[in-house]
Amino acid sequence: MIDLEKLTIKSAQKHLRDGDFSAVELTESYLSEIEKTNSQINAYLEVFDDAVEQAKISDKILTDKSSAQAMVGIPIAIKDNILIKGKTASSASKILEKYKAVYDATVISKLKKQGAVFLGRTNMDEFAMGGSTENSAYGVTKNPHDMSRVPGGSSGGSAATIAMSGALGALGSDTGGSIRQPASFCGVVGLKPTYGAVSRYGLMAMASSLDQIGPLVKTVDDAEILFNAIKGVDKMDSTSVPEELHGKKNEKKEKLIIGIPEDFLKEDGVDAEVLENFNNSIQRLKDSGHETKEISLPNIKYSLSAYYIIMPAEASSNLARFDGVRFGLHVSGDNMIDDYIKTRGEGFGKEVRRRILLGTHVLSSGYYDAYYNKANAVRRIITADFQKAFEEVDVIATPTSPTPAFGIGEKKDNPLAMYLADIFTVPANIAGLPAISVPSGFSKKGESNLPLGIQFTAPHFGEDLLFKVGKDIEK
Ligand code: GLN
Repeated sequence: MIDLEKLTIKSAQKHLRDGDFSAVELTESYLSEIEKTNSQINAYLEVFDDAVEQAKISDKILTDKSSAQAMVGIPIAIKDNILIKGKTASSASKILEKYKAVYDATVISKLKKQGAVFLGRTNMDEFAMGGSTENSAYGVTKNPHDMSRVPGGSSGGSAATIAMSGALGALGSDTGGSIRQPASFCGVVGLKPTYGAVSRYGLMAMASSLDQIGPLVKTVDDAEILFNAIKGVDKMDSTSVPEELHGKKNEKKEKLIIGIPEDFLKEDGVDAEVLENFNNSIQRLKDSGHETKEISLPNIKYSLSAYYIIMPAEASSNLARFDGVRFGLHVSGDNMIDDYIKTRGEGFGKEVRRRILLGTHVLSSGYYDAYYNKANAVRRIITADFQKAFEEVDVIATPTSPTPAFGIGEKKDNPLAMYLADIFTVPANIAGLPAISVPSGFSKKGESNLPLGIQFTAPHFGEDLLFKVGKDIEK
């Protein structure tokens, strides 16, 4: 029996190479675990029927020890908005229920080349719009730590499957926190890379200037391994950045200066317990030799307002392609416009329609300057605040989420309350910065222990700083 609960990508790499178990055995262990738990948790929308076949190929690669790459034989799960050729990719939407991908996303072809095993596609908020996975057209995912609560979102299925030992690693996408917030709710590690570090080719676009693909895993080591496996410039994504433009390399420092935006932590709605846990984590970092420094990010409080203008604006344009002709669902009406209205009305869920309306409004003539252009100006100011702060500190720390996992249904009918939960995660997307969420302890709520997370943000392409400080928190 393989102890899936303890296994990490790093330890599995060694076991596979030492021949302690084969990729097929490992994959079969995961499949039987998924069989046991997925019907309750609903982390996977589909488990692929060719997983064992893929593992056989990985085992062949493994026989040649010299050519075996980092991800060979490692079973992973993929968010339902990332394309795998020949497989359904629905973005958890009814409109794409029967859509099959016709090409591989760049991250997928990179992982295929390395011999990774794709176990299945994971549940999410429809088109990545949400923070609880309740907006999926295929039912909510449950938090493995407490089944009455949400796993976070929008990459809730990817986070939950790591927490339930349903995969060794998973890919998610993060537009305003969708990797980090579910990671924190489920007690796993989640990394949103620098904008441009990982190709978005083959990721269904939500808000193109904010989206990034990244790993959800058990440990910071694993985040580093999976990030290295998927990163890199790509000619299919002109916003991906070549290595020589990443700026100067960070010197390998043992002691970091950690910036704390004290004012920002006092925003309404941050749980006292979350703050206490955060302060304890910071104390632990100080005890292990790091220094802290209070910083001011005077305009960061406008991040959420800017995000909820820029994001729907881009999403509404991106989703215009779902017209009932080119992709997925088609509902016939009396004429072409009617086809359009019927298809989109039936195919998109409520939150998606709300954001299309918002986005269309802020882009309409007369409002474009007042909303969209203003939000972009605010975006530049926030980015400048960060740049100034990073002249004095190496990384910035905040909690990942203002509260632990909330109850299923608790915020469903209050979109504003749901949007406020993104307060700490959105700024990194606004400024294109890399950020990681690392488990930092638990909050006791009744019978359950709910995981909490601490978030670190670094300068552009400063992922190595995040791995460094993340590993120190894990100790
Ligand atoms: N919760 C945020 C939203 O609803 C973030 C979504 C995301 O990162 N994809 O927009």
